[in-house]
Amino acid sequence: MENLQQTKNVDQLVLDYLNRDTKKLLINGKWVPSISGNTFESINPATEEVIATIFEGGKADIDLAVEAAQRAFERADWANITAHQREVYLHKIADLIAQNAQELALLETLDNGMSLSTSAWLVQGAIDTFRYYAGWPTKIYGKTNPTDGGSFNYTLREPLGVCGAIVPWNGPIQSVAWKIAPAIAFGNTIVVKPSSFTSLTCIRLGELIVESGLPAGVVNIVTGQGSVVGSALVEHSNVAKIAFTGSTPVGKGILKSTADTMKKVTLELGGKSANIIFPDADMDKAIAGALTGFTAGAGQGCVAGSRVFIHEKIYEEVSAKIIELANKVVVGPGTDPANGMGPITTKGQFEKIQTYFEIGIKDGATLAAGGERSSTKGYFLRPTVFTNVKNGMRLAQEEIFGPVVALIPFKDENDVVFQANDTEFGLAAMVWTKDINRAHQVAKAMKAGTVWINTLFELDPITPFGGYKQSGLGRELGAESIDAYTQIKSVVVRF
Ligand code: NAD
Repeated sequence: MENLQQTKNVDQLVLDYLNRDTKKLLINGKWVPSISGNTFESINPATEEVIATIFEGGKADIDLAVEAAQRAFERADWANITAHQREVYLHKIADLIAQNAQELALLETLDNGMSLSTSAWLVQGAIDTFRYYAGWPTKIYGKTNPTDGGSFNYTLREPLGVCGAIVPWNGPIQSVAWKIAPAIAFGNTIVVKPSSFTSLTCIRLGELIVESGLPAGVVNIVTGQGSVVGSALVEHSNVAKIAFTGSTPVGKGILKSTADTMKKVTLELGGKSANIIFPDADMDKAIAGALTGFTAGAGQGCVAGSRVFIHEKIYEEVSAKIIELANKVVVGPGTDPANGMGPITTKGQFEKIQTYFEIGIKDGATLAAGGERSSTKGYFLRPTVFTNVKNGMRLAQEEIFGPVVALIPFKDENDVVFQANDTEFGLAAMVWTKDINRAHQVAKAMKAGTVWINTLFELDPITPFGGYKQSGLGRELGAESIDAYTQIKSVVVRF
């Protein structure tokens, strides 16, 4: 993490922040209560205690936020801003996140539950994202096209207008940075709706954005429920684009709703990623990767390696090792660095995951580790391993979004490619082998947006990210994201 100097003790800073007031909405550069005055609570999943109260927005608040974003988009202080000035703002926001990184990481851990080291990694991801996009405003080129000699044709890349961002409760600060940074870099304005379960780091980021001096209304934040605030944003006729990260069912609903207003849409959705271990792999690394794959963030990651395919020759031995390591994981609050895995973020998700323990057993898989709560307070579950799983079982086909892994044997390369691709999802895959040819052949054959070879979860804003099949639509990050946040105008001049 970038170095930072904070004068006050971080715990005290976060406590002061949480106790200060009811968290407000950011509309047109001002922090305002919701029109209804309604509020909701944010819960620390490790203690089940309320840590903050937040104003709950509604359709009328979205209308105000979109209007502010529309006015900002047209106002000279944003519409006529130079690319260099946009670059300065993006760097300034990155600097402010870096200066407050420890505070943001602790806030994320208290709100989401994940370990402090994972939160710090996400905060660093947010800093990197703003820095990466700071390089873009000066590189938004059009083209000249070789039309006939009597005319001249060139293209301009222009911003879309008001973008709407809707993000989930896993990885909140990074998710929101992935949307705000490119929207600003490419000259748009944005209305952000964080998850109602984990709004706090987004709100704090909003404060830092205001501190950066970014013109009012360029970034607006409306907290509240997805079915109310999220859908109002999706249906709003002045919103030009929706950037959504969340579950596949909600993503499908959004795609349908945006048809009426013909919005641009990017969807980052669910996954059921295959983690493939060949017999020639560096076994210590592969096994450690298998464990991290389903326990990082308590398995609440879109790219979680929730299906581990193990070659049949080494299936028993590797399974035994994964079970042994899973049983050793210390589960407890993410604030204690001694704990290897934190709680599930929401009560609903905590309950949903437990239904899969029964489903797995009923379908004939063997529960080999976990399958139980690990304390009476807090949404803690033990890392759960199922062996003898068949790829057709619900355990292997449905996104559980928790610390549950299905260990599946395979015969050979063809078999594992077939099984790994035999899912409606296609977000990511991991391949562990020392055979360079096999590694690239399997990577090529995977129907997944990201393939990691002998590594996992390396996310760099330089690298485009998104899903094949029902894991998403379009790409975020990387050079490809210019398509997600701009549109092309052709200009034809006849001499
Ligand atoms: P979710 O779909 O329930 O909610 C995501 C966001 O959408 C939240 O802010 C929610 O309030 C909002 N929302 C809910 N209903 C809505 C509606 N009708 N209209 C508009 N907005 C609505 O997802 P979640 O449970 O918060 O997050 C977990 C899911 O997100 C998993 O499926 C995970 O795989 C996925 N995810 C995907 C990626 C990726 O990049 N592909 C990254 C992280 C998470």
